[in-house]
Amino acid sequence: MLPRHAESTAPTRRLTALLAEADPAARAVLADILAARFAVVIEVESVAEAREAIKAGRPDMAVIAARLPDGSAAALTAALHGHCRRMPVFVTGPPEAILAVLTTVSLPGLRCLIRPFAVQALEEALDAAAADLAARRSADDAWQLVKQFLDESPNPAALLNGNEVASLNRAFLRFMGLSSLAEFRSLGLTLDRFLADPPPPGGLAAWACRLPGDTLDRDHHLRLVRPDRPGSSPQIFQAAATPLAGRNRCLLTLTDVTELELERQELLDLANHDPLTKTLNRRKLGDVLADEAARTNRYGTPFSVVMLDIDHFKNINDTHGHDVGDTVLVELAARLRTCLRQVDRLARFGGEEFVVAAPGIDVQGAAEMAERLRQAVAETPFAGAGTVTSSFGVAGYRPGEKPEEALKRADEALYRAKSGGRNRVEREALPQPQAR
Ligand code: GH3
Ligand code: MG
Ligand code: MG
Repeated sequence: MLPRHAESTAPTRRLTALLAEADPAARAVLADILAARFAVVIEVESVAEAREAIKAGRPDMAVIAARLPDGSAAALTAALHGHCRRMPVFVTGPPEAILAVLTTVSLPGLRCLIRPFAVQALEEALDAAAADLAARRSADDAWQLVKQFLDESPNPAALLNGNEVASLNRAFLRFMGLSSLAEFRSLGLTLDRFLADPPPPGGLAAWACRLPGDTLDRDHHLRLVRPDRPGSSPQIFQAAATPLAGRNRCLLTLTDVTELELERQELLDLANHDPLTKTLNRRKLGDVLADEAARTNRYGTPFSVVMLDIDHFKNINDTHGHDVGDTVLVELAARLRTCLRQVDRLARFGGEEFVVAAPGIDVQGAAEMAERLRQAVAETPFAGAGTVTSSFGVAGYRPGEKPEEALKRADEALYRAKSGGRNRVEREALPQPQAR
């Protein structure tokens, strides 16, 4: 083997050509042509030497005589294929030798040149191959740089090709508890398997590839958990996707916002809930009523409100102490909750006054619900306080009005329940028929 190093600084300077040719004259001519285009030309004279050179892993392309003293170019096929499936391979020789190679060899980069051939034809073909290799090499280099850059990032990133995960950076593999993309594939994993919630339609990868087109600029949060650790608390990530050249290709990057998100949730909880009973507070009730009123105005579905107030609560405080009063409030809220549907919202309106926003039911239905609530409070004594009763006022939201107007009618009904003897449910007064 005689490696020949060119001095050129052409873009192909890092590429190596293998020349397998037994005829010294032909080899000298071909070596000169190759040396003008490739940094290193490895010259060999036999199949055995060529195999060794390929095994050493160096050639980027090869020019091979169809017939060599110890075999034919066909005999080298497997070795070339194993080294690089797309390697450009030029086979030169007389027509019958070329034919013999063509009938047995199926390399995608195979080019045949029947001897004698015009040198210019070979040069043009080599130039094209060299340019192609150089382009591929620089694309590989660029990809290596991108990969290195992504691996340095503390944020998980995945290169997606439609539904296929083409690459995962180190941070993503670390989160997944895997050592390589090959392991991800051999375990038959998909990104969807790491979702703590049901996957979006079409799967997470396809969803991510659609993200760049999302003009709404929303916050996209994903809750991810390792499938080998079910039940552990999910990590919350903000997802962003950058489109890449090619259809449905994108780079998905995830930023861990778990702590921020938990803090945000805590703040939201504080802002929306009563700290003692954990029911909604009065401010949040305002939002709920406005939302439900809007729904009724739009779809015409019924919506009712129930207002309740503990009877003689002052006595409970005075007799058993304020702490017992507090536990009664907590226990009462818990009892009310167990009687409510999931769509009903319970709020503490003031001291010992609560409101239930009950969508989907009219005054009749809400009065029945209030009766169940009344019984749940009155029928079982409270620890430390004994029997506690409460009074209820019920009103139906009338389309077009402000939700506070329905609340006011419920409050008036509650007042009648109090003055009528307490521990009872009263409905709003019916609207007076218009005088003609
Ligand atoms: P009524 O049957 O007419 O509703 O009589 P009441 O005694 O329940 O009504 P009143 O408005 O006279 O008294 C309400 C009491 O509720 C007074 C107030 O000290 C008490 N209260 C308000 N908030 C709390 C609280 O958070 N904890 C405790 N323990 N008591 C509270
Ligand atoms: Mg009261
Ligand atoms: Mg009161």
